[in-house]
Amino acid sequence: MRQATVYIDSEALQYNLNRVKQLTSHSKIVSMVKANAYGHGVKHCLAALEATDAFGVACLEEALEIRQLGYTQPITLIEGVFAENEMQQVIEQKLECIVHHNQQVEWLIQHKAAYNALDLKVWVKLNSGMNRLGFKVDEIIDVIQRLKAEGFTCVLTMHFANADAEHPLNEQQKNQFLEVKQACDPILASCCNSAAIYKYPELHFDYVRPGIMLYGASPFSDKNVCELDLKPVMSFTAEIIALNQIQQGEYVGYGSTFTALSPLTIAIVSIGYGDGYPRAYVKQNFVAIDQQMVPVVGRVSMDMIAIDVTHIHAEIGTKVELWGKQRLVDEVAHANGTIGYELLCRLTQRPTRRLGN
Ligand SMILES: *Cc1c(COP(=O)(O)O)cnc(C)c1O
Repeated sequence: MRQATVYIDSEALQYNLNRVKQLTSHSKIVSMVKANAYGHGVKHCLAALEATDAFGVACLEEALEIRQLGYTQPITLIEGVFAENEMQQVIEQKLECIVHHNQQVEWLIQHKAAYNALDLKVWVKLNSGMNRLGFKVDEIIDVIQRLKAEGFTCVLTMHFANADAEHPLNEQQKNQFLEVKQACDPILASCCNSAAIYKYPELHFDYVRPGIMLYGASPFSDKNVCELDLKPVMSFTAEIIALNQIQQGEYVGYGSTFTALSPLTIAIVSIGYGDGYPRAYVKQNFVAIDQQMVPVVGRVSMDMIAIDVTHIHAEIGTKVELWGKQRLVDEVAHANGTIGYELLCRLTQRPTRRLGN
């Protein structure tokens, strides 16, 4: 059988959740499990996240999957509902909505009796300069006052555009958030994703919303997971299915982009972009075999890659780590001009997901 397996280490996931708890002891934790738990598979992750206070997802369908698996924790829809007809299920399934535009406010008010009877909170989104979702400062105070008057309990929320870096916008976003928070006092508040959890301990407030750190990848380009004391949750593996001895001057793969400068042993590994392994590397990329870094050579195909095993022991069936505890997903991302988040989320359904490490 073709071996392409994603192992999910639930102890690592628990470890990382504990790290969030250590860093944010006074806040409730909304574990972000959107996009199928950042590609890890909600089914395999939710049990390990049992100690979380709540979950965060991008849409109703993702929330329903969590409910169908039997989890009863609060769930926040971070983009709210997309149409009024979703409100019925929001109430039946006890989901909390974000509101980021006026129509969502109207839809919510029409269902206020049922919503408030369930003690659900409304998350009101501030657009403090990212210009993606939310109300601007001069609108949001009225929105919150209106919602409060209608009997809703509100959580003021926003998202940093540069929590992972130094940028002048950070100060503006922070100041606008604090300004609205003060004007709407008393109000619950939440503005920290993983990077902000590390960077702004003074802004943890009532709820923090960790995503990438739970999965043991880094939100920062200049800090790796060891420095952040996090453990990689996913190990993405495949096996060697062929070995070729090639001579100096021979080529490997599509486009014949790789030429051997000396005789080499090339192993073919059963993984490719059809599984979600990235094709467009901009720098030399590596896989790991028994703690050793082994270069990828030539182009990535849909189902296969070639690696240079001239200097290591390798045979048919040898296990190869594409990313995981030896070769970090952030390093693979860096070699491909992207971020760990993207590689994790865009894994396809082809690799089997299993608990283990
Ligand atoms: C995805 C998301 C998060 C989590 O971000 P990380 O960088 O993965 O920690 C937090 N808040 C919102 C609104 C999000 O969409």
